This record gives sequence, C-alpha cells and structure tokens, in this order.
Amino acid sequence: MLSALDHERYARQIMLPEVGQAGQQAWRDASVAVVGLGGVGGPCALYLAAAGVGRLALIDHDRVAPADLPRQILFGPADLGLLKTERAATRLTQANPEVEVRGLSIALTADNAELVLAEYDAVVAAGDSYALRYVVNDACVRLGRPWIDGSVYQGEGQVAVYAPALGGPCYRCRFPAPPAEVATQGVLGPLAGQVGCCCAAETLKLLLPQHPRVAPLLGRVMLFDTMAGDAFALNVPKDPWCPCCAGL
Ligand SMILES: [Zn+2]
Repeated sequence: MLSALDHERYARQIMLPEVGQAGQQAWRDASVAVVGLGGVGGPCALYLAAAGVGRLALIDHDRVAPADLPRQILFGPADLGLLKTERAATRLTQANPEVEVRGLSIALTADNAELVLAEYDAVVAAGDSYALRYVVNDACVRLGRPWIDGSVYQGEGQVAVYAPALGGPCYRCRFPAPPAEVATQGVLGPLAGQVGCCCAAETLKLLLPQHPRVAPLLGRVMLFDTMAGDAFALNVPKDPWCPCCAGL
C-alpha cells in the first residue's frame, strides 16, 4: 500500500494515466539489477531510485578514476579510488531512502550471472564490453527476464530491450557472434546520460501493468546520433533459428 507520503512524493508519476497508483505500486514491488555504473548505468540507477523502484542491485567491480568524472555524475573528486558500488549506493540512498540498494563489487561472468541475476525482475546492462552483454543475455534468456541494453560509442548511443519471454528477440538474434572489442574511445558525457535516462524509462515501462499506450523498445533499437542531431528507431527481428532463444 502506498502511504500518504508516497502519494505526495510520487504525485506527478501517479498522475500519469499510464502509471497511476497501480503502476507506482508495481515499481515499489519491483527489483532491478544495473550492471555497470559508468556514464550510462549511474544516471539510470539514480532515476530508478528516484522513481521509487523498491530494490536495486548495483553491480560493478571498478573504482572511480579521474577520466570517469565528466560523465559519471554520481561521483566527484572526493570519490577517486573508491569502489563505485559503495559510492553509488550511498548517493542513491540519499536520493531515496525508501529504496533498498545493494552494491555488488563483483565481475559478472558466465559462471555467476544466472545465480546473481535470478532474484531481479529486470536487468540493465550498461557496461562497455560486448562480452558482458552476451553474459547478461544468456543468463536473462534462461531466467526468462527482460534486459535493457544501453551503450555509447563516441557521439552515438543506442538502447534496446531484449526479452524472448515477451515475444521479442535476444541479443544473439541481432549479433550471433561477438564483435571484436574496441579500444577505449572518446565519449560525449551528456549522451551517456541521455542513454542512461532512456534505459531507466524503458525499465520503468517494462515494470508497469500493461497499458495500450506503453510500448517498450521490444524488437526495436533506439539510435541517438547526437553529433548529427538525429534519433531514430530500427526494428530488430527475432531469429527463428537463434541458438539461444529459438522456441521461446
Ligand atoms: Zn535470440
């Protein structure tokens, strides 16, 4: 049950016809794991906490470095060298003390992903490695959980939802084989935030009770070309022969 204080705090969300009290309660009852607390995952996690998602897991094994600060806005110079999970958990708890935040300073691998992610309703993968996306994808397909992919490359960003259990494709439908990892590239800070906010919005949409006006990016990828001032969505078809999700 939402309290009088909840009604006051979340009034502008509850007012949305697509959300209402039922939607706010669904967010309160939900749990989300955010994998990667960089320029995408940090803002995403902060918005999920502020919106009132009940339980959040923050998964990252990195420490804050100077080159992170222009886009990883959860952190400041006083946090340099500290674990991102610990600083982010403190920041999110300050933003919304009602949210249960758990920091996991671990590397997610094919061996542990299914066990770690099993207790969450949805997963956001916001790290900068392709390998991590395959790990999250394969675990989420096996668990029947949706996951949200947010990534940036220089001045371009993309967001997609992968959820075979909801009738959409999986990551392997789109990229059957892992592409070669790229060396560290430049990135525009606000673009990472934009992609992170889009991931948070997609996560919140997935957690809502069904509504005819709410259409998650299922089977679509949203592309942001910030330098060109352009954004558009492309369809991502399900591969009926996908070795990972065929038959689901
Ligand atoms: Zn697939």
